[in-house]
Amino acid sequence: MASRPRIMALIVAAGSGSRAGNEVPKQFRFVRGVPMIRHSYSAFAAHPDIAGVYLAIGAGQEAKTTAALADLPTPHMVDGGATRRESVYNGLKAIAASSGADFVLIHDAARPFLSAHIIDGLIDALLSAPGAVPALPIVDSLARGDGTLSETIERENLWRIQTPQAFHFDAIYHAHRNWSGEEPTDDARMLMAEGQEVRIIPGDEALAKFTFASDFAGSDMTPTFRSGTGFDVHRLVPDEELWLCGIRIPHEMGLSGHSDADVAMHALTDAILGAMALGDIGDHFPPSDAQWRGASSDRFLGHAIKLARERGYELGNADITIICEAPKIGPHKDNMRARLAEILAVDVSQISVKATTTEALGFTGRGEGIAAQAVATFEKISR
Ligand code: MG
Repeated sequence: MASRPRIMALIVAAGSGSRAGNEVPKQFRFVRGVPMIRHSYSAFAAHPDIAGVYLAIGAGQEAKTTAALADLPTPHMVDGGATRRESVYNGLKAIAASSGADFVLIHDAARPFLSAHIIDGLIDALLSAPGAVPALPIVDSLARGDGTLSETIERENLWRIQTPQAFHFDAIYHAHRNWSGEEPTDDARMLMAEGQEVRIIPGDEALAKFTFASDFAGSDMTPTFRSGTGFDVHRLVPDEELWLCGIRIPHEMGLSGHSDADVAMHALTDAILGAMALGDIGDHFPPSDAQWRGASSDRFLGHAIKLARERGYELGNADITIICEAPKIGPHKDNMRARLAEILAVDVSQISVKATTTEALGFTGRGEGIAAQAVATFEKISR
């Protein structure tokens, strides 16, 4: 072996995707905005130690693969076989027939979220062992059973094995050439059948395999994180109650306008609707509609968070700034945060309420009105 090993990656992407319940083979389905195969291909292509990436693809998938990997370094495409093992073997043969390799990392396209950290760990392990796999310990209890539980299985020393699986090229190529048994579950098993050692490195939950239709639900073009902003102004007038963030504040003036004119809660409601790209508060609760006159704004906020949750998103945090000369907001901040957290059904630590003046400048400085702005971030929890 040269001082720097020559390392190739081989991605198996020949599946028809029938288990994922969709006509499009799953490696071409969109995950976080791009075809799934693009994720792991990019990870390998961008890694400085990987000299080339081979793809074992299904018959007639060349054009689709080229399109999915547009703008990335051109892959070496190899015809996949009838089984996963055959696809891997075809890939190994293609590598051997061209430049060869010292190490090879064999990966399933169905595990899109491959980090450089995992690639590094596998390459490191191959410096002292002929094979290495990422694996995660099992934390759930394990048992056999058919409708009812029977035998409990000791989970100590049991592992969930992931890919990429990394090998000394000659060793795994030899194992494939000599294989005559039943279809193995993975390549590590084949190396072990030759009496060779396969090292375990810490796996990554993010490497989870996309298998069933439910794994994909909502993942097509759906961002993991979303954020939105909101801004609102209401006029200060005599003889009105002043409501801010769902708290009634004693003050000689109050806000006039739509509903109870809780300017801060309106800004936050708009931030949530904005994060979901669902328009604004006026679209959902038109000011022209008499039923919202004097209404408590908590129902607007409650409606917005319900729409977010229906789309699988959970609030990360929200930050509100109230802009006014008077009243003083500081003494009420904790009550405001607690009330908003209650309406949103989140922890108070997720809600921030701040206040500022405008140094007596402008309409807020003259005490003619109160303005509020808000930002809210969301994370997709159910995919
Ligand atoms: Mg408003």
